[in-house]
Amino acid sequence: MGAGKLILEEEEGFKMEIKVVEKNKEKMTLLLKGINAAYANTIRRLMLDEVLTMAVKSITVNKNGSALYDEMIAHRIGLVILKSDLESYDLQEDCKCNGKGCSKCQTGFSLKSNGPCNVYAEDMKIDDQKIKPVYPRTLIVKLAKGQALEVDGIITPGKGKVHAKHSPGVVYYRGYPIIKVSASEDTSAAVGACPTHVFKLSGKKAVVAEPMKCILCMACVEATNGNVNVEGSETDFLMFIEAFGQLKHKEMIEGAISIMNEKLDDFGKALKAAK
Ligand code: SF4
Repeated sequence: MGAGKLILEEEEGFKMEIKVVEKNKEKMTLLLKGINAAYANTIRRLMLDEVLTMAVKSITVNKNGSALYDEMIAHRIGLVILKSDLESYDLQEDCKCNGKGCSKCQTGFSLKSNGPCNVYAEDMKIDDQKIKPVYPRTLIVKLAKGQALEVDGIITPGKGKVHAKHSPGVVYYRGYPIIKVSASEDTSAAVGACPTHVFKLSGKKAVVAEPMKCILCMACVEATNGNVNVEGSETDFLMFIEAFGQLKHKEMIEGAISIMNEKLDDFGKALKAAK
């Protein structure tokens, strides 16, 4: 999905419009028009809970002379963010190996360091060279002179609903702000009250300059005794997608939409079978 507009018309009465309003390396903001909160939340939940990413599933600590307990080392390694070609992998529960573990559903890694040194994510030697830490300088542990760490483990694809380490980012939304300013009253107090600088001042009037910055905090409504009125739209939503790095924003959205289609297909088939 590039910057611009996409209109989906699937059936009579349903028309959703998607516009990319902001996109940079860390964050993408979409304007979704013609839906409702349940639909927006479904897309959000699918992105966070169902789209696959790779993460460390288990580790074996062969030697740990560091100041951290084995559990802390495991926790830190488990949260290393990994980028990979997910198309080569299946979920273990769907794999032909019946979850025993094979090259289609898991890969291994090892980590060996001798102090004095800092041990970073980039020191993990991963069997599948396509899998790499997104942030290579993620610090796992500091080793003093004479201390050593030897660990090996397994990396698998998984879903955020099973463990948060598989969530590919943070996604949130709010109703598109509808801001009404009284034409006859002094509304200048809204300018100073607004924490996100939505308004500019024109005489004694607050003029809406940057509506998309509104966070629906209602400070302007309070400051002007209701002479500015704000509400979130129930049909148009701003959706904010912040990717951790395992997947691009576009991959998160496309993954969520394709999972939604699969689930609807399954639902349709189940309904037919129940007749
Ligand atoms: S609701 Fe809050 S963020 Fe929105 S315009 Fe008013 S003060 Fe600014």
